[in-house]
Amino acid sequence: HRVQAQLLLSKILERESSLASEQSTSPGNVTPLRQHQQQQEEQGGKEQPLRLGKSFRIGLSGPPGVGKSTFIEAFGMYLLSLGHRVSVLAVDPSSARTGGSILGDKTRMTELSRDDRAYVRPSPSRGTLAAGYDICLVETVGVGQSETMVADIVDMFVLLVPPAGGDELQGMKKGIMELSDLVIVNKSDGALVDSARHAQIEYTSALKFVRAVSTHWKPRVIRVSSMGGPEVGIEKAWTTMKEYFDVMESSGELQQKRGNQRKIWMWRQVSSELMDLLNEDENVREMANRLETKVLQNEVMSGAAAHQIVERFMKGMASS
Ligand code: GDP
Repeated sequence: HRVQAQLLLSKILERESSLASEQSTSPGNVTPLRQHQQQQEEQGGKEQPLRLGKSFRIGLSGPPGVGKSTFIEAFGMYLLSLGHRVSVLAVDPSSARTGGSILGDKTRMTELSRDDRAYVRPSPSRGTLAAGYDICLVETVGVGQSETMVADIVDMFVLLVPPAGGDELQGMKKGIMELSDLVIVNKSDGALVDSARHAQIEYTSALKFVRAVSTHWKPRVIRVSSMGGPEVGIEKAWTTMKEYFDVMESSGELQQKRGNQRKIWMWRQVSSELMDLLNEDENVREMANRLETKVLQNEVMSGAAAHQIVERFMKGMASS
């Protein structure tokens, strides 16, 4: 289930960006995105479209209650006001109920999902993938493997943290800090400003001990309030993300990163398809069931059992 959800998500993103780039390069084809940009230009809007002719994919992660959906709502609305078109995907691979499905949690981002320039998926009322959304936000709802999975799909990985350091920071897995290109301390407002400042300092120094993923970008920590209007950090968040995009794109690292991600997804697809074939083979399934019991009872070594299963599968393939 998990692998299938991952593959589905990567396909959606791939399709979206290829559609966006096709549309932006075919002459005479005025896309809603282009139309909107023209309107913006006519209106004297300063915000320029991001390059690569494709979408900028931003992953957002953080513990439950940190304010992810509140942030996405505020941030998404801000991006729309700059003339961008935004799609939001929410992923919860750890959810047992949905088996890792892509959730379109419309109730949480009400304003954003009502706006025609945004797409909170899945939305039954709008069935088309063909409108070029130039910014794609991918939110991870689950914890654990979902972060790595999303980091393998997006251009930039953003971690939202609460305005408290200490214990929270201790409990945070090192792995997730390693993935983060930007750490956002949310809820930096009212009585929480002081602890948000404190958290910013702690995360900044914690990042110094984390292995760098990029050769051109140094992770940053900023403070945001998702409830106080764009000037309270939302603007800053976007400037930082654009800076990341520019640094990564002009150095060629972004193209390289996307290439590596495509490679990862190719192999995930290979193993997923192979597993499907293997599961469809009844002889193999029968044998696998028997071997599973033996492995459980420690009568056969797991490696030896795996070899037997693969061998049986290959024999079946060769004779068919
Ligand atoms: P999620 O579980 O990460 O999606 O978190 P939510 O967006 O549902 O927010 C959890 C709670 O934090 C809600 O009660 C929000 O109103 C509150 N919240 C979110 N962002 C902020 C913020 O910037 N400042 C303050 N003070 N509260 C916030």
